[in-house]
Amino acid sequence: MKQRPSFPAKLDDTLARNRPNTVGKVVTATSKPVAHIAPAAAAVHTRPVAVAVVPKGHGMESSAVRTRMVQKLAAQGISDPQVLHAMGAIERHRFVDSALINQAYEDTSLPIGLGQTISKPGVVSRMLELMRNGQTGQLGRVLEIGTGCGYQAAVLSLLATEVYSIERLRGLHDKARDNLRHLRLANLHLLFGDGMEGYAKGAPYAAIIAAAGGEAVPQAWVDQLAVGGRLVAPVVTVGATGGAQALLVLDKTPNGVRQAILEAVHFVPLKSGVA
Ligand code: SAH
Repeated sequence: MKQRPSFPAKLDDTLARNRPNTVGKVVTATSKPVAHIAPAAAAVHTRPVAVAVVPKGHGMESSAVRTRMVQKLAAQGISDPQVLHAMGAIERHRFVDSALINQAYEDTSLPIGLGQTISKPGVVSRMLELMRNGQTGQLGRVLEIGTGCGYQAAVLSLLATEVYSIERLRGLHDKARDNLRHLRLANLHLLFGDGMEGYAKGAPYAAIIAAAGGEAVPQAWVDQLAVGGRLVAPVVTVGATGGAQALLVLDKTPNGVRQAILEAVHFVPLKSGVA
């Protein structure tokens, strides 16, 4: 029999336990007590509303908003339980500016400063699912190109044993460090540099994932991928006008690389050098 939650203090916990999509292991990074859950938090809408009627706080601490996001991702076809669990565990609202908090669990990209964006949850989860390629358990070492605000790096850190994430813009590298501090993710290593060169010290990687799209995949990424490893990156489609991009999945096999071009995507451009 379904127990009625003792409202409001236990609401958060009760939802987290009863939802089918919050599967998998307990994640210590975010399993801290929730400080204040206003009664209105349970009714916060994930669509933008004209007037924000949330009397206390912004309601985003409630796991219910993430549970709803995860349910939508599952409805869109994401089926890897570990990806869904990781998406439900990391609080996306902590990675966006306070003015955008109400949109944090929308399936939309949002500005993070310096002309860059945090990727849509739908695209993040799609790329992570492709990256994991149906495997169970954690991946080994993973390289992320384009830390941005650090959101995807945090999700990745729940799916891989070690994550190296490179950002070329100093301002965002610093911002990501601030955003990630509360999570204390010991397996996440933030690097400042040009990700087009990869990060040879952490190679070989079980997976490489890029959050910015270029004309071609830099050779360094292929070189630093382990045999049996997979690279997922947006690439500018050959012959496309206006820099249209598509998702590339590249598998490094003992006999060479195998590539597949999947659906169209929109990412910020991959640029060389640091700034
Ligand atoms: N995963 C990020 C998405 C950030 S947008 C998030 O969750 O927020 C992509 C990022 O890639 C931008 O911050 C951009 O500065 C960075 N980028 C572009 N070219 C790069 C390069 N050569 N090396 C490292 N980062 C790069």
